[in-house]
Amino acid sequence: MRLILLGPPGAGKGTQAASIVQRYEIPHISTGDIFRKNMKEGTQLGLKAKEFMEKGLLVPDQLVVEIVKDRLEQEDCKKGFLLDGFPRTVVQAEALGHALKKMNVALDKAINVNVDKHILIERAVGRRICKECGATYHITLHPSAKKDDCEKCGGLLYQRSDDNEETVSKRIEVYLNETQPLIDYYKNEGILVTINGQQDIGKVFDEIVVALGA
Ligand code: ADP
Ligand code: ADP
Ligand code: ZN
Repeated sequence: MRLILLGPPGAGKGTQAASIVQRYEIPHISTGDIFRKNMKEGTQLGLKAKEFMEKGLLVPDQLVVEIVKDRLEQEDCKKGFLLDGFPRTVVQAEALGHALKKMNVALDKAINVNVDKHILIERAVGRRICKECGATYHITLHPSAKKDDCEKCGGLLYQRSDDNEETVSKRIEVYLNETQPLIDYYKNEGILVTINGQQDIGKVFDEIVVALGA
């Protein structure tokens, strides 16, 4: 299965991605996670990405596209993949299309997780992430059974530096201007499925499974 996840910041893409990749046994490719890992390791790429991420802006297309192209050529992507947070612009979508064509493969579905704007800020600002395994929680909407520690691995939970109200608002604005056009883009390609992201995490997943045809 070759999939992409679309949706504004805080829609629940990462949360659903964890369940999707488990069920369909495909690698989870999150461009945001790749940048955060590089920032933590202090690589050249991490330093560049940081400038943009901290302001809630998109990292330049060229940088992102190269990383994703390299990643898709790795052996584990032969059985399929889930792209989470990529593409985010029409330029990225076109570059992805070309790269897949060269590999003689195509996307099966673009999953659009739909959530009202007013809910996104609450979700993103309350988000907490496990330092060790990357599991995602929410202080009130989806708390860890172990409070400040991850219920899966015991790791400490932290808050992303860009998950503050001001930066999240900027990210939503950037989403509306640059990423939302991809909904029509994939509708035209005939592979868009829109999912109601405003229901329990498990219900959202059930809807995705049905949309993917089991
Ligand atoms: P995205 O990857 O789209 O930015 P996340 O999956 O990280 O979104 O979710 C954002 C926040 O909202 C997290 O704190 C997560 O625990 C919470 N969340 C995700 N899905 C739901 C849902 N269906 N209902 C309530 N809270 C949710
Ligand atoms: P969210 O889950 O809230 O949507 P992500 O982890 O996907 O956030 O992305 C965090 C930040 O990383 C973005 O605000 C942006 O700066 C950068 N980023 C991630 N993916 C891309 C991409 N495909 N194109 C450009 N910038 C990206
Ligand atoms: Zn953990």
